[in-house]
Amino acid sequence: MAHRLDDLRDAARLAFWLDDPRAPAPAPPLVGSTTADLAVVGGGFTGLWTALLAKERGPNRDVVLLDADRCGWAATGRNGGFCSASLTHGRSNGESRFPSEIARLEELGRENLDEIEATVTRLQIDCAFERTGDIVMATEPYQVAELRQLAESENRGADDVEFLERDAVRAEVASPSYLAGLWDRSSVALLNPARLAWGLRRACLDAGVRIFEHSPVDALADSGRVTLRTPHGQVVADRVALATNAYPSPVHRLRRYIVPVYDYVLMTEPLTPAQLNDIGWRNRQGLGGAGNLFLYYRLSEDNRILFGGYDAIYHYGNGLRPSLEDRPQTFARLLELFDTTFPQLDSVAFTHAWAGAIDTCTRFCVFFDRSSSGRVVSAAGFTGLGVGASRFAAQVLGDLASGADTERTRLSFVRKKPLPFPPEPFRYAGIQATRRSLATADQREGRRNLWLRTLDRVGLGFDS
Ligand SMILES: Cc1cc2nc3c(=O)[nH]c(=O)nc-3n(C[C@H](O)[C@H](O)[C@H](O)COP(=O)(O)OP(=O)(O)OC[C@H]3O[C@@H](n4cnc5c(N)ncnc54)[C@H](O)[C@@H]3O)c2cc1C
Repeated sequence: MAHRLDDLRDAARLAFWLDDPRAPAPAPPLVGSTTADLAVVGGGFTGLWTALLAKERGPNRDVVLLDADRCGWAATGRNGGFCSASLTHGRSNGESRFPSEIARLEELGRENLDEIEATVTRLQIDCAFERTGDIVMATEPYQVAELRQLAESENRGADDVEFLERDAVRAEVASPSYLAGLWDRSSVALLNPARLAWGLRRACLDAGVRIFEHSPVDALADSGRVTLRTPHGQVVADRVALATNAYPSPVHRLRRYIVPVYDYVLMTEPLTPAQLNDIGWRNRQGLGGAGNLFLYYRLSEDNRILFGGYDAIYHYGNGLRPSLEDRPQTFARLLELFDTTFPQLDSVAFTHAWAGAIDTCTRFCVFFDRSSSGRVVSAAGFTGLGVGASRFAAQVLGDLASGADTERTRLSFVRKKPLPFPPEPFRYAGIQATRRSLATADQREGRRNLWLRTLDRVGLGFDS
């Protein structure tokens, strides 16, 4: 029998990854005044990597990290755990925006993924890291030709990208909806994101980073040194790195570059060996759809299926609040798509349903900023692909904060900013028009309407 919304009645409205007894005890909030060489605001992947790499570069530096809530509680602890080598939200997005740099950006991205793997091993972070690669699935006939073409252009000569015909793809994962697939064997790892964040947090503490949780920065003032105010204290720092993602930046000028877009996720109970046998999936790749509105799904360490994406919802006025995380119509849509993908699993139960805010910018990949004569540096705008890219962003933040001239800081990828979003009500109207047009393109064999073609021409187009 098909799943119904009622089947989620008992599902926890909490990210599966964060619902874990191994979650660390909270660090104390900041009380009183302190100083630091570097203060990092935000304890997601970007902030944690920034603090850790700063300590690795200069073990004697005094580094403080402040988070408004708990380290890893936001996007970092709620995502799909796809850790991609791409720094640019896919090669084609990077190619269209940074054509002269894309080859090098792809190399830097692969090095970054290798470094993440090496760090996980070196620090013995138990985050179920599996370098399985991923398969993009064609479920509509027009997508088959697109994937075949991509296979030719993306193969790096080591047979690491393989086009799979219908029977071959169904031999990997048995879904009646698959028509073909593109298997990238090495550019994606899967991991448990909360356990990676907690491991990085532990490594920061071991390296001497002072972490304060439940310490929202509500004001930033610069007078040669930078003062960050929290409800019960302040930090006066030589340098500040902002890693606040979809949340309003303490640098007000940057707020027009980011909109929070909600992404929704379901998690099943662990599959039985018989259920797993019915769907194959022995190579445990991450899976995603080839359309504009795309699903992503994967197995967890204990053989649950995480199933998310498709709808991406913007709420008027940069809406960002917990009540937006329960959206029955999106959960119902995900259940329907799950049943279409895996009709064999009609009796499987769902244990968790959650959402998180994605820091969307108009170039769909991270951008950087320097303000206060370089004393305050920022990274944001990962647009849903930041698990891997956040470490590279942290390296850039380290370069920018120290004023170093490096290969990274010379990249136009680092120097250029995206176009800002227009103010409301145009912002809402534009985002809704784009969403509707992308959905329509998926129903019209990928053909883009006038609105999308106009966005493409001015460099605002999105093509997953
Ligand atoms: C549902 C979902 C699925 C996703 N799936 C994937 C995926 O599979 N692969 C992938 O690569 N990416 C994915 N992403 C994106 C990825 O999770 C993020 O790009 C990445 O985790 C960004 O980390 P971050 O540190 O920049 O932000 P966050 O994890 O959001 O951390 C920001 C932190 O800043 C803190 N903060 C904000 N304002 C203040 C303030 N004023 N004072 C103090 N602290 C503050 C917050 O409390 C928060 O902890 C997904 C995102 C979502 C929401």
